[in-house]
Amino acid sequence: MSKDNFVESTETLKKTVPLMIKHKVPTTPTNYALWYTYATQQYPELNLAIDKHIDAVGHCTPTMCEQLYQEHLASQTDKDMTQLKQSLTAMMQELSHSMTDTLSETETFQGALDNTFAKLESAEKEGLSITDTMVLVRELIKESSQIRLSTGSLKNQLTNAQDEIMALREALSESQKAANEDAVTKLLNRRAFERDILGYQRNNIPYSLIILDIDKFKNFNDTYGHLLGDQVLKIVANRLNAFCQDNAQAYRFGGEEFIIILPGKMLASARHQAETLRRSIEKISVLDKKSGQRINSVTASFGVAERQVKESYEEVIERADSYLNKAKQLGRNRVLPLN
Ligand code: GH3
Ligand code: MG
Ligand code: MG
Repeated sequence: MSKDNFVESTETLKKTVPLMIKHKVPTTPTNYALWYTYATQQYPELNLAIDKHIDAVGHCTPTMCEQLYQEHLASQTDKDMTQLKQSLTAMMQELSHSMTDTLSETETFQGALDNTFAKLESAEKEGLSITDTMVLVRELIKESSQIRLSTGSLKNQLTNAQDEIMALREALSESQKAANEDAVTKLLNRRAFERDILGYQRNNIPYSLIILDIDKFKNFNDTYGHLLGDQVLKIVANRLNAFCQDNAQAYRFGGEEFIIILPGKMLASARHQAETLRRSIEKISVLDKKSGQRINSVTASFGVAERQVKESYEEVIERADSYLNKAKQLGRNRVLPLN
């Protein structure tokens, strides 16, 4: 983990507990995971839901926390979250043990200190010998080295806890990344698309969508096998990725269907870009190692739509999709609408 990530995760941790206290949230592992995620602001949807709830109720009720956790976190990375919860629980218990140990050590030390000072005071009055005084001082040194040992071990525990949190955080972000990624093409998947498009909708950022579907893709599978089909998908995905500029983002939307969000782009510009992509895909040439044959017939059909004011993203997709279907009907390998 990089230094930046370390600083970031420590900062998030510092924010998490005060937030939980402020909103009267019991410090259970579930809540801890929920509020840690809230503090990272990784899921705007989650933060919005929590803010809304607090606005309405004044604090976060346990039922609501559980519900939010189930809705936003549990379903996504169930296994990792359970693991995170277990590790955090174990870590918290360990920490609280050493805190208690250190505290009681401190109390014992304070007692010993008071006691020794009282004895030293009376030693002065009673004229104790230097040997007697040295015995008292030695006692004090013994007590103080005991407490030093104990704080030292707490410090170790804290360092270990920090390492563990860093590792957990990394594991969690890896699994979140995997949850948003398509395994075959490594493009972002449909879930990531929904997350991103909702962000544009919520912030009322204008955008256009390009939907494309590989033409007669089933033929590649049937003729050359599924692996070749996968290879075609990967090559197309790479073209889309290379094409994306100005915050444009490509996603695998379904089997051999892809979608691109073009923020800030109007229909004419999006159509133009789709046309560039269409030509680029048309030029793809794949060698089928099994048959030694070269496949030069990869094409795709495109539907483009610009979001109109107040439209839901589903409506924009529907329009782009119907243009895509028309493009298929008209003979494939084309972009619609024409203007
Ligand atoms: P059209 O031009 O009308 O789109 O024809 P098509 O053959 O591309 O469309 P159809 O929907 O009939 O077939 C899509 C095929 O894509 C069917 C499915 O087996 C295949 N497919 C879906 N996902 C994958 C994948 O991950 N890998 C491979 N190799 N094939 C896939
Ligand atoms: Mg197809
Ligand atoms: Mg299809």
